[in-house]
Amino acid sequence: MGWLVTGGAGYIGSHVVRAFQAAGIEASVLDDLSTGFDAFVPDGVPLTKATLLDRDAVRAALQGVDGVVHVAGFKYAGVSVQQPLHCYEQNVSAMVILLQEMRDAGVDKLVFSSSAATFGTPDVDLVTEQTATRPESPYGESKLIGEWLLKDAGRAHGLQHTSLRYFNVVGSGTPELFDASPHNLFPLVFDALVNGRTPKIFGDDYNTPDGTCVRDYIHVADLAEAHVAAALRLAAGESIEPVYNLGSGAGSSVRQIMDTIRDVTGIPFEPEMHPRRPGDPDQIVATGELAARDLDWQMRHTLQQMVSTAWEARQKAGDAYPA
Ligand code: UDP
Repeated sequence: MGWLVTGGAGYIGSHVVRAFQAAGIEASVLDDLSTGFDAFVPDGVPLTKATLLDRDAVRAALQGVDGVVHVAGFKYAGVSVQQPLHCYEQNVSAMVILLQEMRDAGVDKLVFSSSAATFGTPDVDLVTEQTATRPESPYGESKLIGEWLLKDAGRAHGLQHTSLRYFNVVGSGTPELFDASPHNLFPLVFDALVNGRTPKIFGDDYNTPDGTCVRDYIHVADLAEAHVAAALRLAAGESIEPVYNLGSGAGSSVRQIMDTIRDVTGIPFEPEMHPRRPGDPDQIVATGELAARDLDWQMRHTLQQMVSTAWEARQKAGDAYPA
C-alpha cells in the first residue's frame, strides 16, 4: 500500500518520497533514472527502474497503491523548443499510459507536478490561479495538457486529482540530495564556482528594479510537504482545487541571488554579463494563498537557507555529481 512517486529518484521526487516517509506514509518509486539516481531512493523504498512508456512496468508498479504523485517528466523548457516531440512523448504520452493503467487498476488519486511555465509571460505582477495560462514552450504546453488530462479523466473516470504548479524550486532538505540540472541558475552558478569559472547573468536590461529577471524561489522541502498535504486531502475525500500555485509571493532578482550566493559561499566573485537567454520572462512571482489555505503551504525556509542547503548538497556530492 502507500503512494507511488513517479520520478522519485530525481531531485524533487526524492524529497517528496522523504516527506511521505516523515508523515508515516509508505512510498514506492518508479523512475527510469534518466535524470535521477538510485542512490536518491531511501533504503527499503521499492524502486521500479522503468520508463512510464513501459505499460507493463507501470501496471506492476501500481499494484496495491493508494495513489500516485506524478513527478516524472522531461523538465527542460529551453531544450523542449528543439526537442518538442521528445518532450510530448515523455510528458503527455507517458501520462496517458499512467492514467489508463490507474483507471484499470482502480487507483483513483493523483497529485501532479505542474509548472509556472504554464503561464508563459504573465501580464500581472503577482500570478494567481485565475491568471491566464499562455505557455511559451512545448514544456509549458505539455504541463498544461497534463492538467487537461486530469480534468477529463476526473470527469469520465472519477479520478480525484490536483495539480501543483511549481515556481523556482531550489535548496536541499538533506545534504545527499542535489539538483544537477544543467540549465538552471543555482546548479550553473555552483558549477562555475566549483570549477573556477565566473558565473553568468543572462541579461540585465529587463523591466525589473535592477534589470535582471525576477523569480519566485521556493525551498524543495517545503514543496515536498505540500504533496503530502494534497495526498492526505485526496485520501480523506476532502474538497481540493484542480490547481494550486506553489509560489511565495516574493520575488528575487538574479543579481540578488548572486549576492546571496557570494555571502553564503564566501567566494568573492563578480558575475559576467551576458545577453538575454531566449524565452525568459522579466518577472514571474505567484501568491501561494490558496495552497496556504488548503495545503498548509508556507515558506519555512529563507532565501539564505535555500542557498546554503543547496551549496552544502553541491559540495557534498563530490564525484556523484554528473560531469
Ligand atoms: N540565469 C542566469 N545565469 C545562469 C542561469 C540562469 O542569469 O547561469 C537566469 C535565467 O536567465 C533566469 C533565472 O536565472 O532569468 C532563472 O533561471 P532558471 O533556469 O533557474 O529558471 P527559470 O525561471 O528559467 O525556469
